[in-house]
Amino acid sequence: MTAAVSHLGSGRAPVIELRGVTKSYGGLEVLHRLDLTVRAGEFLAVVGPSGSGKTTLLQIAGTLGKATSGSVRIDGYDTGRMRDTQLAALRAYRIGFVFQQFFLSPTLSAVDNVATGLLYCGAPRGDRRGRAALALERVGLGHRLRHRPDQLSGGERQRVAIARALVGAPAVVLADEPTGNLDSAAGRAVLELLQELNADGTTIVVITHDAEIAAGLPRRVHLRDGAIVSDEHTPRAVAEKTPTHRGTQQ
Ligand code: ADP
Ligand code: MG
Repeated sequence: MTAAVSHLGSGRAPVIELRGVTKSYGGLEVLHRLDLTVRAGEFLAVVGPSGSGKTTLLQIAGTLGKATSGSVRIDGYDTGRMRDTQLAALRAYRIGFVFQQFFLSPTLSAVDNVATGLLYCGAPRGDRRGRAALALERVGLGHRLRHRPDQLSGGERQRVAIARALVGAPAVVLADEPTGNLDSAAGRAVLELLQELNADGTTIVVITHDAEIAAGLPRRVHLRDGAIVSDEHTPRAVAEKTPTHRGTQQ
């Protein structure tokens, strides 16, 4: 445990801090006093059986859901003290979401779908389009700007969704089983894309059922029955990313 918590040290700012987070639905508690800190630059997997609370945890971490008790801090801000409009702004500027079902608008082109990621940032329309086109280029879809979702493969749709998540340059991307609806080749491409984003500094939390994906990530948080039963780090991956850190940890 001490080796685990020394990971990334205290030098990096916490992006997400859950303290004693409990969630109940109609009196039934599905998350039990969770503590979790995600620091800037991390890439962590949340794994666990279906129904163990992964989606609930991610939604609370992203302020899409509210904890029944406990506190959720994003960038140090206590979200429990923020109004809904403030939370919406926090999400718009700091958090990108990616979902298993993509949630693209079927009537909009790829570039307009991505531009919706900037709707709450106050950018003018033309500016939004330009930034959306750049985000699509970044995910390898610069040649698909005018395609609608039904003209794209599943893997391409998910990359559009990732472009929408990153177009506002969020500090953290929260992805709920982003490869769950993709074949393994498309899933790998999506994972590689997330790894590139992480290498560029974006903090990423990904829920995955895919043991191979989870095993390749530097940190794995296991949920069971609404509790964190383990929090594992892969020191080598950490050492590769933060070579100067090792010596200072001893
Ligand atoms: P996972 O993503 O790990 O499959 P979830 O977070 O979706 O798990 O669900 C955790 C538990 O909370 C499950 O028992 C589920 O039935 C319950 N649950 C999730 N959302 C709701 C809801 N809106 N109302 C009632 N129960 C819910
Ligand atoms: Mg889920």
